[in-house]
Amino acid sequence: MSVRRERVDPAPTSDKSLLVHRRWFIPDDLSQPVPPQALAKLWRALFTLEFLNPSDEVTLQRVALPAAPGTLLDSQDLPAMASAGALLAGTDSALLVTQMVWLERERRQDPFAVAGVSDPAGYRDSTLHVVTHPGFVLLPVPAKDLLCAGCGQPSDATEGALKFGEAMLFPLARACPHCKRAVAPESDKVVLRSGQTFLFSEAAAKVALSIELIRAPQSEELPHAGLVEALEEAFGGFDELVDDQVAPSR
Ligand SMILES: [Zn+2]
Repeated sequence: MSVRRERVDPAPTSDKSLLVHRRWFIPDDLSQPVPPQALAKLWRALFTLEFLNPSDEVTLQRVALPAAPGTLLDSQDLPAMASAGALLAGTDSALLVTQMVWLERERRQDPFAVAGVSDPAGYRDSTLHVVTHPGFVLLPVPAKDLLCAGCGQPSDATEGALKFGEAMLFPLARACPHCKRAVAPESDKVVLRSGQTFLFSEAAAKVALSIELIRAPQSEELPHAGLVEALEEAFGGFDELVDDQVAPSR
């Protein structure tokens, strides 16, 4: 379907520099594993809740780890109903499943709707990510600096990291270039490209759901009780990370 990855409305626009909003949902405890079955159940819930379109295809992307920066991802389209099974397969890899829908055209529900009104109208691009290699974590909002808790010095967070979808795959087997201390998720910090500083463990995840939309929704809390319940069931407690004014995924 040719419109699937097309962000802009059919009406021509002179705005070539379209920027969008991306919301990330990640477990609030990096050390707590999420079983693959729970992840597959969450993905199926996105169809049951009518956010995604069961009659359209889903794109699956995968990379075997470890992989060198710049490694291309394997990409294939799958029937939507077969896609949950893909989340059960694969060790020592990173995998994502993604589908974009138009709310009105495809009569889909909006996870950010307030009182039944989509906020904003347009498209939703939902992507579920999982990293099964023990030596890598996902940094959903790409980081620019890693702040070592040992010596306090910054280093380039992108060193050895791999672009994965719109996120970054970060290798845990790296040491501070200044004091040679190993990465410590519970004490090191990351500086995101927005300039915000987070404890590494609060910005990193082994699994993550992202939803991209044209602009930030008005509601700060996720308003859809069904999605909150599905996320809590899969992730336990969860946190939201915001990536605003970013280029649309492709
Ligand atoms: Zn250091």
